[in-house]
Amino acid sequence: MLQNQTDSKEKPKNFIYEIIEEDIRTQKWGGRVHTRFPPEPNGYLHIGHAKSICLNYGIARDFNGKFNLRFDDTNPTKEEQEYVDSIIEDVKWLGADFEDRIFFASDYFDKMYEYAVQLIKKGKAYVDDLDPELMKEYRGTINEPGKESPFRNRSVEENLELFERMRKGEFKEGEKVLRAKIDMSSPNMLLRDPVMYRILHSSHHRTGDKWCIYPTYDWAHGLEDSIEGITHSICTLEFEIHRPLYDWFLDQLGIYHPQQIEFARLNLSYTVMSKRKLLELVQNGIVDGWDDPRMPTISGYRRRGYTPEAIWNFAEMIGVAKRDALTDIALLEYAIREDLNKRAQRVMGVLNPLKVTITNYPDDLVEELDAVNNPEDSSMGSRKVPFSKEIFIEQSDFMENPPKGFHRLVPGGEVRLRYAYIIKCEQVIKNEKGEVVELKCSYDPETKSGSGKSNKKVKGTIHWVSAKHAVKCEVRLYDRLFTVEDPSADKEKDFKEFINPDSLQIISNALLEPFVINAKPGDKFQFERQGYFCVDKKYTTKDKLVFNRTVTLKDTWAKSIKQ
Ligand code: ATP
Ligand code: MG
Repeated sequence: MLQNQTDSKEKPKNFIYEIIEEDIRTQKWGGRVHTRFPPEPNGYLHIGHAKSICLNYGIARDFNGKFNLRFDDTNPTKEEQEYVDSIIEDVKWLGADFEDRIFFASDYFDKMYEYAVQLIKKGKAYVDDLDPELMKEYRGTINEPGKESPFRNRSVEENLELFERMRKGEFKEGEKVLRAKIDMSSPNMLLRDPVMYRILHSSHHRTGDKWCIYPTYDWAHGLEDSIEGITHSICTLEFEIHRPLYDWFLDQLGIYHPQQIEFARLNLSYTVMSKRKLLELVQNGIVDGWDDPRMPTISGYRRRGYTPEAIWNFAEMIGVAKRDALTDIALLEYAIREDLNKRAQRVMGVLNPLKVTITNYPDDLVEELDAVNNPEDSSMGSRKVPFSKEIFIEQSDFMENPPKGFHRLVPGGEVRLRYAYIIKCEQVIKNEKGEVVELKCSYDPETKSGSGKSNKKVKGTIHWVSAKHAVKCEVRLYDRLFTVEDPSADKEKDFKEFINPDSLQIISNALLEPFVINAKPGDKFQFERQGYFCVDKKYTTKDKLVFNRTVTLKDTWAKSIKQ
């Protein structure tokens, strides 16, 4: 029904798109495309999940197909409603529209139970009493075949009865499991009679105490895909060796059978991505929650000021491959910068203020100077910035003993104040410790920006704020959370040993131009010459604006690709 209308659009070229195009051509699924994103609600989503969401939703969008959000909530011990809620919020924020198709594997527990009974009746599943240790021993090794359990050849009747009693809660955890009867000598260890159900006397966040047996991932996942009519079940590479099992279950049951396709997961430098590790950072108070702006979580990135558009662009840049690799985090930062450059309101803000008095400027005069809101987008217009006798500049824009090539303010030197005048440093005032605390400068009234009166040129232009108009804010500067590229590489060491102790620097007395006064949490700005900043939703109060630095302006990635 849909094939041709999709061909006109420019689509990413990757091997999964090629498979789908071929399936549409051959009418393998009747021209249908139906994908899903199947998170386990045992943590918040991270940027790796975003890659999977963009891929799965992007496919549904590009082929006029459908996209499901499905919670793979088969393990009651680690799952919580908080995670479900955050996942829904994140998927929506990324713009992956699942319409009304939000599903829970736990809604299929009855159906899965019936399917298990069918396998028992076909002699393809059995209840095993081996304790977990023995079971492991019987499984053999990669080099040696496994041994069959003494309970493997129970009659169908006995299996049915025991399985029923497992469900009723007559046994303790670990006392019995239901296993598929496949092949104890298979070279693929996963086919050596894998466990389908284990006993867990735990309450489930949705089904409560209705069940005390829970399906394993391998048993459940294909059934979930089958029940929902998924066409292409896309997962990460580590599931490649699970595919024969995925296929075996569906073939034995003779039910609708989607195609599993594997792709390489995203690994980002200076980051950990396993939910277990992220949870450890949260639980140990190393970060301030799952949405800490240093976390690689979608909620952390949102709080930090990343945009869904930038994440989509990043996902497109990295593409989809069949081989695992480590992606440079600088590429993600590049994508963020590119996007914010186009949309962020410019303002001037001084992070480490140094007072400047313009001695020949009239005491009470305030001029409203024109400043461009975004040079990349003229439709954003301009604003007025107040200028007066006392201003603040960045401490680092003045040097008493400058190195060669320093084009900002020096004793006796001149610099242009952005949107304002050229000033000259006449006198340097120090405190008793010898630190520079104020500069006395003169200004040249003929050099007002845009007035065209003087053609005097200076090498440097710096930002500033008017002292009596400035808004005092808190600014949080973030650096990488880890000091090494791959904190998980050394298996002998705890990844927490590589935490960067300087990943957060708080500046409590930054001064911003008054334009920001009405900014709301989530609003994004470029502080000229400093970087992109976003109003923090957690710490901003009605009396105090708190900004997160989203990303610096320095672009190491763009430089490295131009070389
Ligand atoms: P864990 O962190 O415990 O290994 P997980 O990240 O695999 O778990 P799931 O909730 O099972 O967590 O993941 C949901 C989906 O996201 C899966 O289809 C999985 O393949 C995909 N996914 C997870 N991590 C990545 C990643 N780094 N890159 C791409 N896709 C990922
Ligand atoms: Mg997983």
